Amino acid sequence: MKKPFSVAFSQQFGSRFRLDEPLANHTTFRLGGPAKFWVAPETIDELVAVVTSARQYKVPFLMLGGGANLLVRESGFNGLVIQNRVNQVNFPTVEQQSVESAVTVEVESGVVLPNFARRCAKRGLSGFEWAIGIPGTIGGAVVNNSGAYGNDMAQTMYRAELLSPTNERVWQFADWFLYQYRFSRLKGRTSRLMSPTVSVKRTTTDTDWIVLRAELQLTSASVAEVEQRMKQFNNRRKATQPAGATIGSMFKNPPNDYAGRLIEATGLKGYQVGQAQISPLHANFFQNLGGATATDVLALIETARKTVHEQFNINLELEIEVVGD
Ligand SMILES: Cc1cc2nc3c(=O)[nH]c(=O)nc-3n(C[C@H](O)[C@H](O)[C@H](O)COP(=O)(O)OP(=O)(O)OC[C@H]3O[C@@H](n4cnc5c(N)ncnc54)[C@H](O)[C@@H]3O)c2cc1C
Repeated sequence: MKKPFSVAFSQQFGSRFRLDEPLANHTTFRLGGPAKFWVAPETIDELVAVVTSARQYKVPFLMLGGGANLLVRESGFNGLVIQNRVNQVNFPTVEQQSVESAVTVEVESGVVLPNFARRCAKRGLSGFEWAIGIPGTIGGAVVNNSGAYGNDMAQTMYRAELLSPTNERVWQFADWFLYQYRFSRLKGRTSRLMSPTVSVKRTTTDTDWIVLRAELQLTSASVAEVEQRMKQFNNRRKATQPAGATIGSMFKNPPNDYAGRLIEATGLKGYQVGQAQISPLHANFFQNLGGATATDVLALIETARKTVHEQFNINLELEIEVVGD
């Protein structure tokens, strides 16, 4: 890598640019090796400049939001990890909100989902309650078509502003993203390889688009009503999903069934490799009990897949993405 790249970033970002930064500190699974270079832009202009520089210097880079959908191997990432901290929200004015029942909110891609859901609730905006327990960012949710309780980004998003593979800023409407269940055309190469049933045609540059911000369509509602719905969703999560270091659902649900039900039926609930465990509470959640490695988790994934295939002839597809060699 050319010297000017890291010198320039170090001067511009100070402690927001680091070498050999442990990704275990930036992923919800709390495991994984280091990023060779790590930078945390806080405005859209900074984010655009960082991505543009990385491309100019031909440095491989990885966008990181909440790190809530990534399993990072021990080798880490041999390039630049861009930790997205762009976090402005443009809410409609009180006047706009009181006359129009449907309103548009513009939210930048580094905004954290539960935080945004709570801010919407306080303003009496409904339509984003489903995101209350999901520890990712808007950018990750746009890529992954995150969702819960019958709702998802595909139904919420009007359009998003992206940085194209040739560094142009463009707005794309929701249908451009080719949304399916936990899938969009932007979803990473790793997961595409692990999702052989996905028939959407993608170009190799699809994963090079960067989400800058999104416009979401929400509706006016009473604060109490929205907060009550979020409370119900939170309670449901607490009763059914483990707390602590996890990565959310490991596998997508196969058609007409649930990955968690299938794994549980094989008797693998509580099964452990090293310090990684298939949750005794919810079999589609894997836990890092403290000190687990990606190798342990990959062994658990393999066991779950193989056993479900042997017993039910169903191929489980990963919902998460694996990073590193
Ligand atoms: C406890 C827990 C509960 C969860 N529950 C749910 C749930 O109910 N429903 C659900 O759908 N998911 C759930 N998840 C999974 C996860 O939170 C979501 O899928 C979320 O979308 C991941 O967002 P992120 O910002 O963490 O993405 P990351 O994990 O940081 O990144 C995921 C992918 O998106 C890319 N990416 C991130 N930001 C950008 C950007 N701005 N531009 C371009 N690419 C980008 C990354 O490069 C990577 O390929 C859960 C996870 C946890 C840990």
